[in-house]
Amino acid sequence: MKAAVLREIQQPLTIEDVELDAPRPDEVRIRVVGSGLCHSDYHSISGDLLTPMPAVLGHEAAGVVEAVGSDVSEFKPGDEVVSCTSMYCGHCRDCQTGHNNVCGNNPKSRAEDLPSRITRGKEAISQFAGLGGFAEEMLIHRTGLTKIPEGMPLDRAALLGCAVLTGVGAALNRGAVSPGSTVVVIGCGGVGLNVIQGARLAGAARIIAVDLNERKFDLARTFGATDCVKGGPDAVAEVREMTGGGADYSFEVIGLPSTQEQALMMLRRRGVFTVVGMAPSGSSFSVPGVMVMAMELEVRGSLMGSAPFQQAIPNYAQLYLNGKLKLDELVSQRIKLEDINDGYDNMIAGDVARSVIVFDN
Ligand SMILES: [Zn+2]
Ligand SMILES: [Zn+2]
Repeated sequence: MKAAVLREIQQPLTIEDVELDAPRPDEVRIRVVGSGLCHSDYHSISGDLLTPMPAVLGHEAAGVVEAVGSDVSEFKPGDEVVSCTSMYCGHCRDCQTGHNNVCGNNPKSRAEDLPSRITRGKEAISQFAGLGGFAEEMLIHRTGLTKIPEGMPLDRAALLGCAVLTGVGAALNRGAVSPGSTVVVIGCGGVGLNVIQGARLAGAARIIAVDLNERKFDLARTFGATDCVKGGPDAVAEVREMTGGGADYSFEVIGLPSTQEQALMMLRRRGVFTVVGMAPSGSSFSVPGVMVMAMELEVRGSLMGSAPFQQAIPNYAQLYLNGKLKLDELVSQRIKLEDINDGYDNMIAGDVARSVIVFDN
């Protein structure tokens, strides 16, 4: 099968013919139909996130089940599915208290004594996030999949596996935005637009989108922003002034210490800051202890939507089918696997919300 392979950081991905192993008892093989380009994969390309190479990146994919291992009864060939990196053990305290998105025993990879799922000749190739969605097929652990409702288009369903799950889930679950509240979202990329959309679904009265790139403001308004503020050093003062002292909820969806600190400074008393953006390994932001104490502020982290994706993804798909959740507007361009490097160039230039690779195999 064809796959886009990362062999060296800061270099283009190479399109290669690789082999996929047969499913082991707890694995499922999927024919990929749609695969979104998320910024997190770019952290592997840029070198901000250390990734064992060679690797097949991609972690936002939808497709059709082709084959299942001997222990898998919950999926069968022909099922339309969305994959997610939040695989889980089912036995730990987090799994058993409804938080399998933070399971510490995530069975992403095979045991070390087993052959690699992806190979090229004798060379083992790793899968980003246990998925490897930039390929015609994926072979993954059974817990990294969920079925979607009938009639859900698979190119758009792919985005439910990361951008929508992460963004909408951060607003609804971890941020727990309340009706009538004021929300500020810093960063209007694929995930940020979905935090805006989640805040809209939660009934926020005012949603302020902040981004350096003013070209993103039209899209932010489409997803539910009521006000847009240009990012930069003046953004904190501007948000504080227009909200009469700060927002009830803030979300940072870039992963930069400077904007994480700004998100905290944009809150009113008893405000809640939710960290959504993926920061480079080793980076940190500072939190003024006295201010957090005196203003009773909260800082929360949110990973992959802070809820079991097995329930959340089909629910979001149904919201799309009911016309309540926007997905069509999120797809800026449909591309072929061969165009993946151009797709990332367009993302970095800030020209697209999401590019989706569509396979016609
Ligand atoms: Zn992602
Ligand atoms: Zn677990």
